[in-house]
Order: sequence, then structure tokens, then C-alpha cells
Amino acid sequence: SRSVYRFGGGASDGGDGDKALLGGKGANLAEMASIGLPVPPGFTIATPVCAAYYDAGGCIPDRIASELNEGIAHIESVTGKRFGDAADPLLVSVRSGARVSMPGMMDTVLNLGLNDATVAGLAATSGDPRFAWDSYRRFVQMYADVVLGLDHGAFEEALELAKEDKGVHLDTDLDAGDLEALVTRFKALVEEEWGKPFPQGVHDQLRGAIGAVFGSWQSDRAKVYRRLNSIPGEWGTAVNVQAMVFGNMGDTSATGVAFTRDPATGERAYYGEYLINAQGEDVVAGIRTPQYLTKAAREKAGAKAVSMEEALPEVYAELARVFDLLERHYRDMQDIEFTVERGTLWMLQTRSGKRTAKAALRIAVEMADEGLVSEEEAVLRVDPAALDQLLHPTLDPDATREVIAKGLPASPGAASGKAVFDADTAERKAADGEAVILVRVETSPEDIHGMHAAKGILTARGGMTSHAAVVARGMGRPCVSGAGSVSIDYKARTMRVGGKEVSEGDIITLDGATGEVMLGEVPTVQPELVGDFGRLMEMADMARRLRIRTNAETPNDCHTAREFGAEGIGLCRTEHMFFDAARISAVRQMILADDGEGRRAALDKLLPEQRADFAEIFRIMAGLPVTIRLLDPPLHEFLPHQEHEFVEVADAAGVDVATLKRRVSELHEFNPMLGHRGCRLGITYPEIYEMQARAIFEAACDVAAETGDAPIPEVMVPLVATEAELRIIREQIDRTAKAVFAEKGRSIDYLVGTMIELPRAALRAGDIAKQAEFFSFGTNDLTQTALGVSRDDAGRFLTAYVEQGIFARDPFVSIDEDGVGELIRIAADRGRETTPGLKLGICGEHGGDPASIAFCESVGLDYVSASPYRVPIARLAAAQAAL
Ligand code: PEP
Ligand code: MG
Repeated sequence: SRSVYRFGGGASDGGDGDKALLGGKGANLAEMASIGLPVPPGFTIATPVCAAYYDAGGCIPDRIASELNEGIAHIESVTGKRFGDAADPLLVSVRSGARVSMPGMMDTVLNLGLNDATVAGLAATSGDPRFAWDSYRRFVQMYADVVLGLDHGAFEEALELAKEDKGVHLDTDLDAGDLEALVTRFKALVEEEWGKPFPQGVHDQLRGAIGAVFGSWQSDRAKVYRRLNSIPGEWGTAVNVQAMVFGNMGDTSATGVAFTRDPATGERAYYGEYLINAQGEDVVAGIRTPQYLTKAAREKAGAKAVSMEEALPEVYAELARVFDLLERHYRDMQDIEFTVERGTLWMLQTRSGKRTAKAALRIAVEMADEGLVSEEEAVLRVDPAALDQLLHPTLDPDATREVIAKGLPASPGAASGKAVFDADTAERKAADGEAVILVRVETSPEDIHGMHAAKGILTARGGMTSHAAVVARGMGRPCVSGAGSVSIDYKARTMRVGGKEVSEGDIITLDGATGEVMLGEVPTVQPELVGDFGRLMEMADMARRLRIRTNAETPNDCHTAREFGAEGIGLCRTEHMFFDAARISAVRQMILADDGEGRRAALDKLLPEQRADFAEIFRIMAGLPVTIRLLDPPLHEFLPHQEHEFVEVADAAGVDVATLKRRVSELHEFNPMLGHRGCRLGITYPEIYEMQARAIFEAACDVAAETGDAPIPEVMVPLVATEAELRIIREQIDRTAKAVFAEKGRSIDYLVGTMIELPRAALRAGDIAKQAEFFSFGTNDLTQTALGVSRDDAGRFLTAYVEQGIFARDPFVSIDEDGVGELIRIAADRGRETTPGLKLGICGEHGGDPASIAFCESVGLDYVSASPYRVPIARLAAAQAAL
């Protein structure tokens, strides 16, 4: 079969589908040429030749010799020049090109085909001897370096010496004669170092360069890169040989880079830079300031120098034609490199352009509206994670910043404020209208009011599902968690980091999207949730199967989530309602009571409060399903732990300090996450769940009577391991419902279900489903218990685990599909076997993670539940998973 594939001159032997055979660059050049773009003609030596080269002991196999000659003949016939012709020589570039772009291999040899005879021809045809000798000088230098592997220092030195001798500083100050002398010197250097004269035969030069490209596939750098990126060694590289074009042949020549749309804003306007009389490197190197491509961009920037549209109107018109052709062909925004040689446009490269989140959104929506892509494709074009950037304020990219620490990017958005070290101070200062950042070693439910008052939260300890991270995401507050280098002194009200001290009241800035902590105030820019965002969401909703709910427990969060499109509540964590300042003392009385009677008395005080909470949520959610989880955390979380709090709390709860302390120490547990929490509380203190069930049903009846929109409460029991637990609690819930309905004279529909968050529950899901109308996977706890890894302080080793590839990603962020995922599949299958149509959802943090959502789609869950600010991300990710 064929080894050499031609392109250019209006046709190609290959195309985009041939990346494995032609490498990325070769396939791209072939594709551009085949759709009629002006591509300098050339050919690609296919990747299998690379293996043949090694099999032949590092020689270009003889069998491709005639194809190589045909390849050169093709370039000659398109350009009308001949390789090695002393009068009008063809010059070529030689480049490597693997299937995927791969640094570490030989990159490029330019101007190949120059020798002592052809240099004169180039001088004559270009009319510019200096240009010819400079090209030859560069060629010898490049060839010596990348093909012959000689020390390039000696060549640099010779160049410096030539300038010194002449008393000038710039390469451009050397004239044709100087450069000719330098070529002589370079050739002598080659002979000294290499032991042979610089090759004058152009075919020898070509074979040398091709061999060097193949040889570089097995260079140490390339091997390391392949190992790190799991690229198989068998792939091999292709070699691209292509006619040279010159952007530095006077004032009708130029070189540039361009995007078919603005990569920062997504605006449909050509965007780019160019330089007259320059080569590609000059644009990138930044020695000369590139000019604007379009007149409009130049005028907008108030710049004087002429744009390409004004300086080279005909070539610009051709370029604009090419842009449109490219967009129609690739149906995406393109990033392009081009060269103009004496008024003729040549395309060197095109690829899908990198873009900001904002641009990605706008381009996807507009391309769908233009009919360039389907709505489904538009939905697939936007990275759901990037939406996060669009929903929160972000740091002004132009602002300077002094980063003092880095933690986990626990909740996106940027915020500045005065550092404060406790929740009460945060609340007080916020009430005075000050912006504050709450800084804690870690947070607990006692800090909620301070977190709410703060603009952002910083913790020294804790991972992506630590309390701080979960609560901050829920509230839409930026949060950096687990910034281990920060050391906090609560007494002195300071934090130290890297030799810097921040005292209470000093201003710091957090970037919750990167995990960076900065000194002082860094300006932010506000998100714009304009039309494009809404359009994309509509398209996503058309495409998705999964329903999207939210994890919310405050009216505020419920409103936010509904604005973002939540279709119900998947998790209302009732414990948060217990921490309210006005209620905590009744909660503590309940905990401190000696018997059921005492507990009931305290719970009676809480009942109306809970009922009001639920009624409010039912009203906001207006008939949508609302999953309410009964109390989950261990009781000690509601009691004080610091000496100075004891007196006040004992007073308020009506007990003496000794009793309080005794109770605190009784409730102490070594592994509270595995301890007396979840339904275990419901089993041992049945009056707690009874009160909560009553509050739910009373509120539901009241709201049904008031609005006519009957809420659909779904009562959810946490941390169930056995069918018996759920049976006992469900009987109590049903009894309570019956009693309330009798009292209210009306009944409403409700469901009882359980969280599946323990491995045993997943395995015994077949039994448990006998007692449940729904399952909701609590993947925070399920990850913690399946892996035996604490969700609160795994940060200490998880980073190392991810770095070493033991986990592909933090399992608290993205579901561990092989382990936790298998438990979910088992539970889903066994649960549905018992109860066909069993409703299945997920309410762990993974419910807002795009990769985990794709997994949920594959298991066929009915819904995912995400914190309010992640609802749009979940809508988009669910759509992508379904497409
Ligand atoms: C879970 O464990 O996944 C869950 C949603 O519950 P919580 O985070 O409140 O323990
Ligand atoms: Mg849980």
C-alpha cells in the first residue's frame, strides 16, 4: 500500500479521517487542501513508515524511494520550481506530526534545499540577496542542531562574534556579505564537529531530515512524554514535507494568526493579528508589535497603524472567504495560521480554537441559531463545568494579585472582605454592612450563621465534601477549603501563611474556582446571565431524561434553585433548621433531658418552628416534590465544646454546668460519623422523628388548604443499614400521618423512602425496598464508608493518591465508578426487582458533578439533586449524558 500521501494544488490523497495514518498535522493539511483552501503543496510520509525505519535499523526503507520522488515531483509541478534547481530552487520544510500533538519530537527544519548553488538562485528570484543568505544561514544552523544533533552553542557564538566584529547589536544589521561569511563559518563548524562537510545534495538533505524526524520518535524526551500521556510507542510519527512560503518578501508579504470569532467574548467577528514583511516566529516572539486584522478592531482600539483589511484589501477579502469556508466545513470556531507571500495567501494551519466559557456559550448558541450546528450539537459544545464560571463573580483577569496560599477550589466565585475568625464576629460585622471572609480551621454546623453572613469562607482543613465546602456550595458562597499552609491562631485573631500575618480586619480575597487566597482586595466582575444562557438551558432541557432537583433547606436557597430551574428538592437537611439561634436552646434542652417525657416537652417547642419551615418550603416549591430528610447528625454537634460556652448554654437550657459537661462527655464518640447518628437516633429517640413527621404532615395539609397546590412530601430516613430499621421508622411515620390527617380532616399523598449510603444497605436493597417507595443515594457517606476514607479529613493523603494515579479523581468529587458505582448498580437492580418503578435519585455532592451525572444516566436513575448553583450545570450535564 501507499506510504506517501500528497496534498495541495487543489487535491489531496488523504483527509481528516486519516489521523492515525497521516498524523494530526498531515490530516489537517490534507483536509484543508481538499476543500479548496490555498495550502502550500506537499506530502506526508505515513506513520507505518516510522516502524519500518526502525525495523531497517534506522534507515529510510528503500521501497519508499520512488514514492518520495513522486512526492517531490508533485510539489514541483504545483509550484513550477525544481528541487535543487540553481536558477529557481524549490525549498521545503520538514516537520514531524504524530496522531496527537506531541512535544519532545523533532519539530521543524525550514528552507531545506538551499546549498552553495541554489542560494544564488534564491537571491536572484527574490531580488534580495540578504534574504537568500539569511535563509541559508538559518537553514545550516537549524539542520546542524536538529538533524545532525551538533551543539548549537557554537553557532550562536559565531553569530554573536560576527555582530561584535561589525560593532552591531541586531541580526538585522548584518548585510548579505556578513551573512555569506557566516555561512562559510557555519559550514566549517559542521565539518569540525560532524567530521563530514555540510550536505550539498538536496536529496541527501531531505533524507537526513526525514531520518531525524523518525529518529526523534524514540528520543528520551518523546518517550517520557508518551509514558506520561499513555501514548503507545507503536503509533509512530508521520513526516510532512511542504513547499516553503515566505512572509518576509517585502511589503506585500505578511504573516498572521486569526480566529474566526472572538475567542474571549464569542462575538461573530474576525479576530487576529498580523505583521507585514515577517515570518511566523516574529508574531509569536513579540519583537515587533502585531497589527489588527480588521479595520473595525483597529478603530475600536483607537490604533493608528493600518489593519490588514486596509493594507492588503484583496488578500484580506480572500482570507475572509477562507474563514467562512472553514467555519462551514468544520462547523466550529477556528484558530488559523497564515502567510502572505507577495500578495498570495497561504494557509498553514487550522484547528478548533480555544475559548473562554463565555465565548463557548455564545458561539454554541449562535451557531445553532445560524443553523451551522444542531441544537444537540450546541448542547454538547459547552463544558458544564465551565458554566460554573459564568454563574458567579470572577476575579478581574486584568487585576494584579498577591497569592499567599492555595487550598482546594471548594466552591466557585471570588470574594474580598475583612478576615474574621469566628462566626459571631462575622455576623456582627456583616450586620454593620462590612464585607467579611470567615476564616476557620474547619467549620461545623455551629458556624452556619457566620458562613451565611460572610462573602466567602476559608478553611485550613477539610476536603471537597467537608462541612465548609458542602454548605458554601449550597449557599453559593465562594470557598477555599483545606489550605494547609494557613495556620490560624483563634486567641490572637490572626492567621499566618508563608511568613505573612493577617490580622482580624485585614482584607483578603478568595478565588473559589482556583483555590487561591490573596492579600488585599482584588476587583471582581459580575456574571451576566443574559439570553445565551437561557437559550442553552432550553436546548439542554429538550435533550435530557434525568430530572434535576436541588439540595436546599432555606427559603433563599429554594428560590435560587427554582430560578436556576430545579424541578423539586432532592434533599432538605433538617438539622440546619435546628441551628437557628432562636431554636438551639430548645434543641439542647431536648438533648439534655433525662427521659422521653423531657425530650417531648422540648420537642413541643420545636414543632411549630419546623412546621413553619416546611410550610414555607412547600409554598415556594408549589406542588413540586420535596424530599425531607429526618435528623441525621450525632447529637453532640448541637452541644458546646468550649469552656467559655458552658455557663451560658447551661443557663439557657436550665441545667447546671456539671450536668451539661457530663452529657457532653457521654455523647462523645471516637468515630461520630460511624456512630449514634442517622436512623439510629430515630430508633433510640423515637420522639424526635415523630415530631419531624408531624411537622411535615401538618405543614403539608395547611399549605394544601391554603393554596390548593398540594405538596408532595417525600420523607427520607438517613443511614439505614437494615430493613428492620426502616420498617420500624416507617410504621411510626405512617402512624403519625394517619393521626395528622384525622386531625386535619384531609389527607395528602406522601412517600416514605430511604437514603442508600451504607454498603450493607446497597447489598440488601432487595429487602429494604419492601419498606421504601424511593431510594436516594447518599454518595458522600457511601463513598466514605465503601472506601473507608473519612470525608472530613481525607485531604491529607487524597492529593497524593490522585497524583500517583491510585484514584483517577477525588472520589468525593467524581463517583468512584468501579467501587461505589458498583454498589449503586447493585442497589438499583435489587431495589427495582422488589419494587418495579422504585424511584431512584442521588443527593450526595456527586449529583452536581458532570462525570457522575453521566454515570447516573447510565444506571437509569430518575433524578439527580445538586446544590442550587450547580442546578444549571446538572441540567447541561444530564442533557449531554443523554445525547
Ligand atoms: C450523603 O451522605 O451523600 C448525603 C447526601 O448526606 P450528608 O452529606 O448530609 O451526610
Ligand atoms: Mg449522608
